[in-house]
Amino acid sequence: AFGAVEPNMGTLVRIKLYARDEAQAQRAIRAAFDRIAQLDDILSDYKPRSELNQICRTAVGHPVRVSGDLFRVLDASEQLAVETGGAFDITLGPVTHLWRKARQEHRVPELVAVHEALAHCGCRKLHVIVAQHAIELDEPGMQLDVGGIAKGYAADEALAVLSKAGISSALVAASGDLAFSDPPPGQTGWKIGVGSFDSAEAPFTRILVLAHGAVSTSGDSEQHLDAGGTRYSHIIDPKTGMGLTHEITVTIVARHGIDSDGMSTAVSVLGAERGFELVERKPELAALIVENGRSHPQILESSRFRLLGTGS
Ligand code: AMP
Ligand code: MG
Repeated sequence: AFGAVEPNMGTLVRIKLYARDEAQAQRAIRAAFDRIAQLDDILSDYKPRSELNQICRTAVGHPVRVSGDLFRVLDASEQLAVETGGAFDITLGPVTHLWRKARQEHRVPELVAVHEALAHCGCRKLHVIVAQHAIELDEPGMQLDVGGIAKGYAADEALAVLSKAGISSALVAASGDLAFSDPPPGQTGWKIGVGSFDSAEAPFTRILVLAHGAVSTSGDSEQHLDAGGTRYSHIIDPKTGMGLTHEITVTIVARHGIDSDGMSTAVSVLGAERGFELVERKPELAALIVENGRSHPQILESSRFRLLGTGS
């Protein structure tokens, strides 16, 4: 087995793969990391010159044709926004940036600032024009943030690059977003630990053994703000502009990372009950939802998750 880790997309990206020899492995790994770096140049909301940030300036009031990568991510985001009644919302950039600063300064943002930022958001002000591969924004001052879906897409694309380089068995992990192909030689699948590792009482985990798919986990274990006895997630409720305060860890299993990533963030916003219902309506998805309530964690496994052959 060959492995490599590189910082990218604001996190660490890990690749594990099986190859003929070291030379093939290194060539493939380089190509996969280069593809992820290329996607970050397109999708980042930190880099002022990313294509994403450019259209926030150029696509106001008229459609602008975008790259295939940006189009795919924005189109998938738009569909998810519709499916979730706006719980998944990539137009929240003004609000997510405010909370990013708040986390650095360890204080909750001013309510007036949250409301001012929310006024520049709304997925109805973003238009994905399929026939033209174009994007249009209704107002100046809008900021797109695809941080809830881009890492899963990057994992998919890195895996595709590995496959083109002749690697059929690989796993790409962009922090909590995993995509994988054939099982390791002689095994039935990749062993993937999921669940909540920081629940109030004890860690709640499952080991999945999977091939040809994707697994994403959203939670507040890494990025959050503790203030006044409340923990605010980096995931925002579009209705209020506030970081989520229900402590929830959502794992989604899907065929592709773009779907598992977006859906894990979306289900976090919807909450255990409504999120569970949405997943159950989609036969291609499985979900494990752990809500770390103050007293006891609530654990929901979707019917397809229960069939995944979990064990330890
Ligand atoms: P994830 O780690 O995949 O759950 O994504 C979290 C990231 O998604 C945040 O850091 C924001 O960039 C972005 N985000 C926050 N709230 C939302 C939301 N309601 N809908 C879509 N993306 C969001
Ligand atoms: Mg996500």
